[in-house]
Amino acid sequence: MDIINVEFVRELVEACTYFWEAGWGECHAGNISYLLDEKEVEEVKDFLKVHATVPVDFDTEGLEGKCFMLTRSGSAFRTMKKRYMHDMGIIRFIKGAYEILWGFDDGEGRPTSELPAHILCHRARLQDDPKNKIVMHCHPTYLNAMTMIHELDEEEFTKTLWKMNSECVLVFPEGLAMLPWMVCGEGPIGPATAEKMKNKRVVIWPFHGIFSSGNSLFDAIGLIETIDKNAHVYVLTKANMLHSMTDENVEELRKHFHL
Ligand SMILES: [Zn+2]
Repeated sequence: MDIINVEFVRELVEACTYFWEAGWGECHAGNISYLLDEKEVEEVKDFLKVHATVPVDFDTEGLEGKCFMLTRSGSAFRTMKKRYMHDMGIIRFIKGAYEILWGFDDGEGRPTSELPAHILCHRARLQDDPKNKIVMHCHPTYLNAMTMIHELDEEEFTKTLWKMNSECVLVFPEGLAMLPWMVCGEGPIGPATAEKMKNKRVVIWPFHGIFSSGNSLFDAIGLIETIDKNAHVYVLTKANMLHSMTDENVEELRKHFHL
Protein backbone atom coordinates (compact mmCIF):
# COMPACT_ATOMS: atom_id res chain seq x y z
CA MET A 1 0.00 0.00 0.00
CA ASP A 2 1.07 3.56 -0.74
CA ILE A 3 0.84 6.08 2.10
CA ILE A 4 -1.20 8.35 -0.18
CA ASN A 5 -4.12 5.91 0.27
CA VAL A 6 -4.35 6.89 3.94
CA GLU A 7 -7.18 9.39 4.09
CA PHE A 8 -5.55 12.19 6.09
CA VAL A 9 -2.38 12.01 3.95
CA ARG A 10 -4.41 12.27 0.75
CA GLU A 11 -6.43 15.17 2.16
CA LEU A 12 -3.27 17.07 3.11
CA VAL A 13 -1.77 16.61 -0.36
CA GLU A 14 -5.08 17.68 -1.93
CA ALA A 15 -5.17 20.76 0.32
CA CYS A 16 -1.74 21.82 -1.00
CA THR A 17 -2.99 21.43 -4.58
CA TYR A 18 -6.07 23.47 -3.76
CA PHE A 19 -3.96 26.28 -2.25
CA TRP A 20 -1.91 26.47 -5.42
CA GLU A 21 -5.04 26.45 -7.60
CA ALA A 22 -6.52 29.23 -5.45
CA GLY A 23 -3.36 31.31 -6.05
CA TRP A 24 -2.38 31.29 -2.37
CA GLY A 25 0.77 29.14 -2.60
CA GLU A 26 2.98 30.49 -5.38
CA CYS A 27 6.53 29.21 -5.88
CA HIS A 28 7.69 27.99 -2.44
CA ALA A 29 4.99 29.87 -0.49
CA GLY A 30 2.79 28.15 2.04
CA ASN A 31 3.16 25.42 4.62
CA ILE A 32 0.92 23.09 6.59
CA SER A 33 1.30 21.11 9.79
CA TYR A 34 -1.13 18.45 10.96
CA LEU A 35 -1.15 16.84 14.41
CA LEU A 36 -1.76 13.08 14.15
CA ASP A 37 -4.00 11.42 16.71
CA GLU A 38 -3.28 7.88 17.96
CA LYS A 39 -5.52 6.28 15.34
CA GLU A 40 -3.74 8.13 12.53
CA VAL A 41 -0.29 7.14 13.86
CA GLU A 42 -1.54 3.54 13.82
CA GLU A 43 -2.72 3.92 10.19
CA VAL A 44 0.77 4.90 8.99
CA LYS A 45 2.92 2.94 11.47
CA ASP A 46 4.25 0.54 8.84
CA PHE A 47 5.80 3.50 6.98
CA LEU A 48 7.57 4.97 10.00
CA LYS A 49 11.21 4.57 11.00
CA VAL A 50 13.76 7.02 12.44
CA HIS A 51 15.74 8.53 9.53
CA ALA A 52 17.24 11.48 11.40
CA THR A 53 17.15 13.25 14.76
CA VAL A 54 17.24 17.03 14.62
CA PRO A 55 17.77 19.25 17.69
CA VAL A 56 15.54 22.35 18.04
CA ASP A 57 16.16 25.58 19.93
CA PHE A 58 12.60 26.00 21.18
CA ASP A 59 11.01 24.47 24.23
CA THR A 60 9.55 21.03 23.46
CA GLU A 61 7.71 20.67 26.77
CA GLY A 62 4.29 19.14 26.20
CA LEU A 63 5.21 18.08 22.65
CA GLU A 64 7.14 14.91 23.42
CA GLY A 65 5.61 11.91 21.69
CA LYS A 66 3.42 14.03 19.41
CA CYS A 67 3.62 13.32 15.66
CA PHE A 68 3.07 15.94 12.95
CA MET A 69 2.84 15.64 9.21
CA LEU A 70 4.11 18.78 7.53
CA THR A 71 5.47 20.33 4.36
CA ARG A 72 9.18 20.56 3.59
CA SER A 73 11.37 23.63 3.55
CA GLY A 74 11.59 24.71 -0.11
CA SER A 75 8.65 22.54 -1.22
CA ALA A 76 6.10 23.73 -3.77
CA PHE A 77 2.34 23.30 -3.50
CA ARG A 78 2.01 23.17 -7.30
CA THR A 79 3.94 19.89 -7.55
CA MET A 80 2.89 18.35 -4.23
CA LYS A 81 0.73 15.64 -5.83
CA LYS A 82 3.75 14.26 -7.73
CA ARG A 83 6.36 14.90 -5.08
CA TYR A 84 4.70 14.21 -1.72
CA MET A 85 7.36 11.60 -0.82
CA HIS A 86 9.98 14.36 -1.09
CA ASP A 87 8.00 17.40 -0.01
CA MET A 88 6.02 16.12 2.96
CA GLY A 89 7.20 14.36 6.07
CA ILE A 90 6.17 13.00 9.45
CA ILE A 91 8.12 13.99 12.55
CA ARG A 92 7.85 12.97 16.20
CA PHE A 93 9.04 15.18 19.04
CA ILE A 94 11.36 13.95 21.74
CA LYS A 95 12.96 16.14 24.41
CA GLY A 96 14.84 19.02 22.71
CA ALA A 97 14.60 17.51 19.23
CA TYR A 98 12.41 15.82 16.64
CA GLU A 99 12.84 12.59 14.72
CA ILE A 100 12.04 12.38 11.01
CA LEU A 101 9.96 9.21 10.69
CA TRP A 102 8.82 9.38 7.07
CA GLY A 103 9.25 11.56 3.97
CA PHE A 104 11.53 14.53 3.27
CA ASP A 105 13.53 12.19 0.99
CA ASP A 106 14.03 9.64 3.78
CA GLY A 107 15.18 12.34 6.17
CA GLU A 108 17.48 14.25 3.76
CA GLY A 109 15.23 17.34 3.78
CA ARG A 110 13.90 19.39 6.66
CA PRO A 111 10.44 20.69 7.59
CA THR A 112 9.30 24.20 6.68
CA SER A 113 11.44 27.05 8.03
CA GLU A 114 8.24 28.22 9.77
CA LEU A 115 8.40 25.07 11.97
CA PRO A 116 8.83 27.03 15.25
CA ALA A 117 5.82 29.23 14.40
CA HIS A 118 3.75 26.14 13.54
CA ILE A 119 4.66 24.14 16.61
CA LEU A 120 4.27 27.05 19.02
CA CYS A 121 0.88 27.81 17.41
CA HIS A 122 -0.24 24.19 17.86
CA ARG A 123 0.69 24.39 21.52
CA ALA A 124 -1.17 27.68 21.98
CA ARG A 125 -4.28 26.42 20.14
CA LEU A 126 -4.33 23.12 22.07
CA GLN A 127 -4.52 25.04 25.33
CA ASP A 128 -7.56 26.90 24.01
CA ASP A 129 -9.06 23.94 22.10
CA PRO A 130 -7.80 20.37 22.76
CA LYS A 131 -9.24 19.25 19.40
CA ASN A 132 -7.08 21.55 17.27
CA LYS A 133 -5.18 19.59 14.59
CA ILE A 134 -4.15 22.01 11.85
CA VAL A 135 -1.97 25.06 11.44
CA MET A 136 -1.52 26.39 7.92
CA HIS A 137 0.13 29.36 6.30
CA CYS A 138 -0.39 30.77 2.82
CA HIS A 139 -0.54 34.03 0.85
CA PRO A 140 -4.20 34.90 0.04
CA THR A 141 -4.09 37.55 -2.67
CA TYR A 142 -6.94 39.82 -1.64
CA LEU A 143 -6.17 39.63 2.05
CA ASN A 144 -2.64 40.84 1.28
CA ALA A 145 -4.08 43.62 -0.89
CA MET A 146 -6.44 44.62 1.92
CA THR A 147 -3.52 44.96 4.38
CA MET A 148 -2.15 47.65 2.04
CA ILE A 149 -5.28 49.79 1.95
CA HIS A 150 -6.80 49.25 5.41
CA GLU A 151 -5.47 50.41 8.75
CA LEU A 152 -3.54 47.65 10.50
CA ASP A 153 -5.58 47.49 13.67
CA GLU A 154 -6.90 43.98 14.33
CA GLU A 155 -10.22 45.16 15.78
CA GLU A 156 -10.93 47.60 12.95
CA PHE A 157 -9.82 45.04 10.37
CA THR A 158 -12.15 42.42 11.88
CA LYS A 159 -15.09 44.86 12.00
CA THR A 160 -14.62 45.81 8.34
CA LEU A 161 -14.70 42.14 7.29
CA TRP A 162 -17.75 41.41 9.46
CA LYS A 163 -19.53 44.18 7.54
CA MET A 164 -18.71 42.70 4.12
CA ASN A 165 -21.04 39.72 4.44
CA SER A 166 -23.73 38.67 6.94
CA GLU A 167 -22.00 35.31 7.47
CA CYS A 168 -18.51 36.57 8.40
CA VAL A 169 -19.42 37.00 12.05
CA LEU A 170 -20.64 33.38 12.04
CA VAL A 171 -17.38 32.04 10.63
CA PHE A 172 -15.01 34.03 12.88
CA PRO A 173 -17.07 35.41 15.80
CA GLU A 174 -13.95 35.74 17.97
CA GLY A 175 -12.36 38.07 15.40
CA LEU A 176 -8.95 38.02 13.75
CA ALA A 177 -5.54 38.70 15.25
CA MET A 178 -2.86 40.69 13.45
CA LEU A 179 0.86 41.24 13.95
CA PRO A 180 2.80 44.28 12.80
CA TRP A 181 5.06 43.53 9.83
CA MET A 182 7.95 41.33 10.99
CA VAL A 183 10.76 39.34 9.38
CA CYS A 184 9.41 35.86 8.57
CA GLY A 185 11.01 32.44 9.14
CA GLU A 186 12.77 31.48 12.34
CA GLY A 187 12.97 34.26 14.96
CA PRO A 188 10.53 36.39 16.97
CA ILE A 189 7.61 36.05 14.52
CA GLY A 190 6.97 32.45 15.69
CA PRO A 191 6.45 33.23 19.40
CA ALA A 192 4.54 36.42 18.48
CA THR A 193 2.14 34.44 16.26
CA ALA A 194 1.66 31.79 18.93
CA GLU A 195 0.92 34.47 21.54
CA LYS A 196 -1.92 35.73 19.31
CA MET A 197 -3.18 32.16 18.76
CA LYS A 198 -3.86 31.72 22.47
CA ASN A 199 -7.38 33.04 21.88
CA LYS A 200 -7.73 33.44 18.08
CA ARG A 201 -7.71 30.86 15.28
CA VAL A 202 -6.38 33.26 12.66
CA VAL A 203 -3.34 35.57 12.66
CA ILE A 204 -2.72 37.97 9.78
CA TRP A 205 0.83 38.88 8.78
CA PRO A 206 0.49 42.20 6.93
CA PHE A 207 2.05 42.33 3.43
CA HIS A 208 2.68 38.58 3.63
CA GLY A 209 -0.19 36.23 4.43
CA ILE A 210 -2.18 34.36 7.01
CA PHE A 211 -1.82 31.71 9.70
CA SER A 212 -5.02 29.72 10.15
CA SER A 213 -5.84 26.83 12.49
CA GLY A 214 -8.70 24.45 13.20
CA ASN A 215 -9.96 21.02 14.17
CA SER A 216 -10.06 19.92 10.53
CA LEU A 217 -8.79 20.96 7.13
CA PHE A 218 -12.34 22.01 6.34
CA ASP A 219 -12.37 24.49 9.27
CA ALA A 220 -8.90 25.93 8.70
CA ILE A 221 -9.38 26.29 4.93
CA GLY A 222 -12.93 27.63 5.40
CA LEU A 223 -11.56 30.47 7.53
CA ILE A 224 -9.07 31.45 4.83
CA GLU A 225 -11.70 31.18 2.07
CA THR A 226 -14.12 33.38 3.97
CA ILE A 227 -11.54 36.00 4.85
CA ASP A 228 -10.04 36.17 1.37
CA LYS A 229 -13.46 36.22 -0.33
CA ASN A 230 -14.56 39.20 1.72
CA ALA A 231 -11.20 40.96 1.45
CA HIS A 232 -11.82 40.58 -2.30
CA VAL A 233 -15.19 42.31 -1.97
CA TYR A 234 -13.55 45.08 0.07
CA VAL A 235 -10.76 45.62 -2.47
CA LEU A 236 -13.24 45.65 -5.37
CA THR A 237 -15.57 48.17 -3.80
CA LYS A 238 -13.45 50.35 -1.53
CA ALA A 239 -12.90 53.19 -4.00
CA ASN A 240 -16.61 53.52 -4.72
CA MET A 241 -18.20 52.11 -1.60
CA LEU A 242 -21.53 53.77 -0.79
CA HIS A 243 -22.41 51.61 2.19
CA SER A 244 -21.93 48.27 3.91
CA MET A 245 -23.42 46.80 7.08
CA THR A 246 -23.18 49.06 10.11
CA ASP A 247 -21.76 48.24 13.54
CA GLU A 248 -25.41 47.97 14.70
CA ASN A 249 -26.18 45.42 11.96
CA VAL A 250 -23.26 43.25 13.07
CA GLU A 251 -24.50 43.50 16.66
CA GLU A 252 -27.94 42.28 15.49
CA LEU A 253 -26.30 39.28 13.79
CA ARG A 254 -24.28 38.53 16.90
CA LYS A 255 -27.47 38.52 19.01
CA HIS A 256 -29.53 36.58 16.46
CA PHE A 257 -26.94 33.77 16.18
CA HIS A 258 -26.10 33.83 19.93
CA LEU A 259 -22.40 34.39 19.20
ZN1 LIG B 1 4.77 33.02 3.64
